[in-house]
Amino acid sequence: MKLREHLHIIRRSIQLLDRLSRRNLLGRSLHALVVALMPYVPIYFSARLIDALIAGAPVQTLALYAGLTIGLTALLSLAKAFLLAQCEIGAPEMELAYEWMHAEKAAQLSYASIEDHEVARLKQRIRSETQTGFNLYYFYSSMERVIQFSVRILVSISLTASFFAADTIALPAKLLFAGGVVLTVAVNMLIGRRSAKIRSAFSADCVQSNIMLGELDGYITDYKPGKDIRLYAMEEPLAALDKRLLDELGAYEMRVYLKCAGLELIATVMNYALRFGVYLLLISGALMGGVTVGSIAQYVSSVMLLLTAVMELVRTAQQLALNDTYTRRFFSYFDIPNPMYKGSLSVEKRDDNEYYIEFCDVTFKYPNTDAYALRHVNLRFRVGEKLAVVGMNGSGKTTFIKLLCRLYDPTEGEIRLNGVDIRKYDYDEYMAIFSVVFQDFQLFAYSLGQSVAASAEYDAKRAEACLREAGFEERLSSMPKGLDTSLYQDFDKNGIEISGGEAQKIAIARALYKNAPFIVLDEPTAALDPVSEYEVYRRFGEISGGKTAIYISHRLASCRFCDEILVFHEGQIVQHGAHEALLAQENGKYAELWNAQAQYYTETA
Ligand code: ADP
Repeated sequence: MKLREHLHIIRRSIQLLDRLSRRNLLGRSLHALVVALMPYVPIYFSARLIDALIAGAPVQTLALYAGLTIGLTALLSLAKAFLLAQCEIGAPEMELAYEWMHAEKAAQLSYASIEDHEVARLKQRIRSETQTGFNLYYFYSSMERVIQFSVRILVSISLTASFFAADTIALPAKLLFAGGVVLTVAVNMLIGRRSAKIRSAFSADCVQSNIMLGELDGYITDYKPGKDIRLYAMEEPLAALDKRLLDELGAYEMRVYLKCAGLELIATVMNYALRFGVYLLLISGALMGGVTVGSIAQYVSSVMLLLTAVMELVRTAQQLALNDTYTRRFFSYFDIPNPMYKGSLSVEKRDDNEYYIEFCDVTFKYPNTDAYALRHVNLRFRVGEKLAVVGMNGSGKTTFIKLLCRLYDPTEGEIRLNGVDIRKYDYDEYMAIFSVVFQDFQLFAYSLGQSVAASAEYDAKRAEACLREAGFEERLSSMPKGLDTSLYQDFDKNGIEISGGEAQKIAIARALYKNAPFIVLDEPTAALDPVSEYEVYRRFGEISGGKTAIYISHRLASCRFCDEILVFHEGQIVQHGAHEALLAQENGKYAELWNAQAQYYTETA
């Protein structure tokens, strides 16, 4: 990485930390400054006091030095305590803002990025690197160290400059001292770089294991897989895998630890040898005269602080440079663009409800895959039509809907709303015209009313009407708290567990509440019992009213009532038309699927 990039990352990190919590950033920086200065107050004034004592100075002077030592130390201690309190308030503030930043980013990512394994891996990786102390958090603590050690270097140099400038010390001795410092710094740098490499290789190697351990932990602690774990006696294999991963990680960590400790030992021995040299130098200086007793104490302490500060600053700078690789990765996640947000056209609100959608030679493959999920799809339909999409599993039905709703953009071709490429519309406005119930819909642990409205505030009458239309009326009337009943127990211990079929009805009610011109039901009856399923079919026309309804199912019997049926096969529309007409094409895919299913129903009947 070039110096410019390092500087750019440092500037960006500071800006981000400032945005997350200015209180924490300032608190920590000033705290580091105060901590850096604190030891110099007694060092400087004690030296003056000793010299004044030896010189037989008046008692007022002695009292002044003593007072200044205590007074300044007390002031700095007060400032330190105040700043520490600021940091303690600022740290959770920053933590919260950091978590929120992650949540916001996840919400802003395009759906294509969310489903992209590379993005998921990157997110996991930066999360686990943050937890292990790298990227932003490492930058934070390093910044404090840089402030602290830079200040110490400056102050120590100014307090010892007079000694090294004086003629008392012979030139060769000064050169020897300078050489010793340079050598120790160089060895420290080499050792620092080696240890950092070992540690960074370790954390890179741990990413996969950490991800697996996280998943395993999820299986074991989440109650949902509990049934399968018990019925298939999965405890042992899961625990064995957990143990194997932990053992491997533990052994690896121990090897890394021993290697780094060995390297540290060399650095420590050199540091202390240098310190010993400094003592010899100062003693010889004192013996030759020209240095006061008080100054000797000041020089010794300052040089020791200087040496430590130089070593630490070098180490910190090195680790910061290495950490920039992590921080760059960290920012790369937050820089993932959302190409969906480019459009700015407003979706026309038409009183005549005359909307039409066209698929113009649309071809699509999922990111990072080679196979086409859709190929050359051409289609045109108007609002108000009831459309069914049928086909075998994996034939492209859901993908077709995902493209229609702009969760993905076509790889080739165009989808148009009223003749305009849908990419040109404002993304949020375009999304607002669809109510979709996906097969793998997600309900959240809010109250029933809020879940239906997908909002904290809602119109109770409308929510009830939608639940009624979706066939949830009976269950609702048996709930003492009605719409205020919490779903699941994530946030409320009195929340209710709902069955798959009930959840599906609530999801349908949510789609109805949104009241969008397009309503899409993707296998809406998969989890419903036969009676409820029949109800949804029967009421489908009523439920969707004058809206465009797209109904996806691999059960052909449920699609008969639609105006137009699209038959998907291997990513293509192979047939379309009304039920009777399609069935009449005896060699067509529709007739094949229909007969296969009819036979299935007869056999199982
Ligand atoms: P259907 O809804 O008809 O069952 P899908 O539209 O879900 O079919 O899938 C069409 C094809 O795209 C299948 O081959 C499926 O494996 C593939 N596919 C679906 N989702 C993804 C995804 N997120 N990433 C990669 N391939 C996918």
